[in-house]
Amino acid sequence: MITLYNSLTRSKEEFTPINPPHVSLYTCGPTVYDYQHIGNWRTFVFEDILRRTLEKNNYKVNHVMNATDVGHLSGDNLGDADTGEDKMEKGAKREKKNVWDVAQFYLDDFVQTREWLNILPPAKFVRATEFIQEQIALIQKLLDKDLAYETETGVFFSVDSYPEYGKLSGQKLVDKRVASREEVEEDKLKKNPADFALWFKTVGKFADHQMRWPAPWGEGFPGWHIECSAMAMSLLGEQIDIHTGGVDHVAIHHTNEIAQSEGATGKPFAKYWMHGEFLMVDGGRMGKSLGNAYTLHDIKGKGFDLLALRYLYLGAHYRDKLNFTWDSLEAAQTALVRLRNQFIAHSEQRIGVEATSDTGKMYLQKFMDAINNDLNTPQALAVVWEAVKSDLPQEAKRSLLLGFDKVLGLGLETEIVTEAETSQEVQELVSAREEARREGDFAKADQVRQRLENLGYTVKDTKSGPLVVPKV
Ligand code: AMP
Ligand code: ZN
Repeated sequence: MITLYNSLTRSKEEFTPINPPHVSLYTCGPTVYDYQHIGNWRTFVFEDILRRTLEKNNYKVNHVMNATDVGHLSGDNLGDADTGEDKMEKGAKREKKNVWDVAQFYLDDFVQTREWLNILPPAKFVRATEFIQEQIALIQKLLDKDLAYETETGVFFSVDSYPEYGKLSGQKLVDKRVASREEVEEDKLKKNPADFALWFKTVGKFADHQMRWPAPWGEGFPGWHIECSAMAMSLLGEQIDIHTGGVDHVAIHHTNEIAQSEGATGKPFAKYWMHGEFLMVDGGRMGKSLGNAYTLHDIKGKGFDLLALRYLYLGAHYRDKLNFTWDSLEAAQTALVRLRNQFIAHSEQRIGVEATSDTGKMYLQKFMDAINNDLNTPQALAVVWEAVKSDLPQEAKRSLLLGFDKVLGLGLETEIVTEAETSQEVQELVSAREEARREGDFAKADQVRQRLENLGYTVKDTKSGPLVVPKV
């Protein structure tokens, strides 16, 4: 049995999909105007753990993720929907490129660097601009049902015409109005300031907008929220099992998705809504202007294994805030290396230990209990360590760890398959080389590599970290 925390009911619930063993999963993807930062990646890793856990429990997961390449305004995440600049246009200005090239570049980067974190690719990874007709059709449906209205500047969803508006966050409309900041410019043509854009016409501040499509209400581009409703419903059906994102999506993006989707179909949209808590850096918010919105390139550039970042993420429950520091990443990397080394070291100790399959089963059960309990990764990691330190025979450990890693995705398989039987001295040299590389002392790193070569070992740098193999 899997239990998951459902933001919609604000409680942990037993997971029962609409059409077992199939599970439809929609995860809100990156806005491709810049590199994703390690906060964004924390959410994507949480979603990857969710998917792997479902698959480990033999569900057939149909995972769809979108890439937002149009319509996401900077105010949308900050609590002031429809305000600010279009993120894609902002990226294009910054890089003096056209928006299409910017989108392609960051989309490619996302796909490439996602592999570094060992995140499984979704069954479908689709771009909002590929679904313009579906979005137009959905907006038309909302207009036909009088849930939306047209103004000179666009088409807006009328929150007052949808009584359940806000049920996800529990925030009352009045609160929302009070909360909206005074300095924010407001479209005076909206009937209610909380109404949100489904379509922006390319007039006024958007007259020069690069992305534009013809629509029954005039040329323009879709708002951010409508894309996820249109894509999720086109690709997964009007009712889906699980919809996820970061906590910042609760109050606006997902609230608006629910209103649009359920308003249009009259049916519940997603059965379970799940949200990952924020990653903080040095105890505070992450921000480009603060210089701490690190990317995976930054982490790699400092010589870290990206799977150490994944290990760091797993050390906290996805519904708890996690504070990133370089020291904590260092500690995560040490733990990961220790995990790999422990395993390799144990490969020599197979004689004299009785195979106790009951013990193996007990660890597997403990692991599954942890992960099936609302994805409790810190507890699952604790079980991993218990198993590693136990006196289980090597073969049992190997298969246990491989099984655990199907969920954790820490890339243990590479290490295990190669199974270099290394001595303490060799392990210390590998660590010394890693440290030198991290400190940018490449001359020293090379010296250490040479010493390893002299001892008969070659070091390979794999995507899951350094791998030491005996020379053949
Ligand atoms: P975006 O590219 O802004 O659409 O964000 C991609 C994903 O990252 C969304 O699910 C956001 O909710 C999530 N996200 C944004 N900032 C953070 C953060 N600091 N920590 C964790 N997740 C975040
Ligand atoms: Zn979305």
